[in-house]
Amino acid sequence: MFKKLMIGALVAVLAAINGLSAIPVLAAPTAEVQSPTTGETAGLLYMFQEEKMARDVYDALYVLWGQPTFQNIALSEQVHLDAFKTLLVRYGIPDPGTAAGIFTDPTLQTLYTDLMATGSLSLMDALKVGATIEEVDITDLQSRLTQTTNADIQMVYNNLMRGSYSHLRSFVTVLKRLTDEVYHPKYLSADLYQSILTSSAGKGQAKVTSAFTTRAGQGYNASTCVPANPMSIISDNGMGYRGSRH
Ligand code: MN
Ligand code: MN
Repeated sequence: MFKKLMIGALVAVLAAINGLSAIPVLAAPTAEVQSPTTGETAGLLYMFQEEKMARDVYDALYVLWGQPTFQNIALSEQVHLDAFKTLLVRYGIPDPGTAAGIFTDPTLQTLYTDLMATGSLSLMDALKVGATIEEVDITDLQSRLTQTTNADIQMVYNNLMRGSYSHLRSFVTVLKRLTDEVYHPKYLSADLYQSILTSSAGKGQAKVTSAFTTRAGQGYNASTCVPANPMSIISDNGMGYRGSRH
C-alpha cells in the first residue's frame, strides 16, 4: 500500500516537472508521506529561492546580451522552480512570492546582486556567471540531499542536479566557443567537475551521481523510482528545451 501510494505521489511530481500536468497533483495527500523536518523545510525553501535566482539572473543576462543560451536555460530553471513549487504546496510551506531579483534569503540576495554586477561587464563574464551559478546549485543540492530522507524530495534534488550538470556543460561550452576562454571551477572539486564535463546526458550520470544519490537503508532506489532516462523528465540540455512559462 505504502509503495503504491508513494509511486502515485512520485508520478504526480514527475508529471508536474514535465509540465504536462494541469491536474491537481496534490489531490491525494496520504498519511504515508513523511512530513518534512525543519531542515527539509529550510532546504526546500532555500533551493526554491536558488532556482529562482538562477532564472532571474539568466532572464536579466539574456536581456543584456541576447545570448540564447540564457533564455533556454532560464526556461529550464522555470521548470525546476515549478518542481519545488509543487513540493512547497504539498508540504504546506508558503511560497515567499517575491518579484524578480528579490529574495527573502540575504545570502541569495547578495549573491544575486554580485552575480548581476559581474555578468553585466561582458558576455564572457556573463557566461562565467552562468557556470558559477550551476556550480553553486550542484554544491547546494548535494548538501541538501544529505539532509532529507523523503523520496520525493530526493528525487527532485537528483533530477535538478542532472539539469545543473547539463547547464554547466552548456555554459562552459558556449564560453569556449564564443570567447575561447576556459572555465575554471570555483566550488566543485576538479574530479567532479571533470566527470560532469566528460559525461554525456545519460551515460555518465550514474557515475557522477552515485556517490551521493544512493544511501543505504532508506528504501529508496534510484533505479526503480526514477525512470530509466531521467533526462526525459527534465529535458534541459540547456540548448533545446521547449517549455512554457507559468
Ligand atoms: Mn536549476
Ligand atoms: Mn541550472
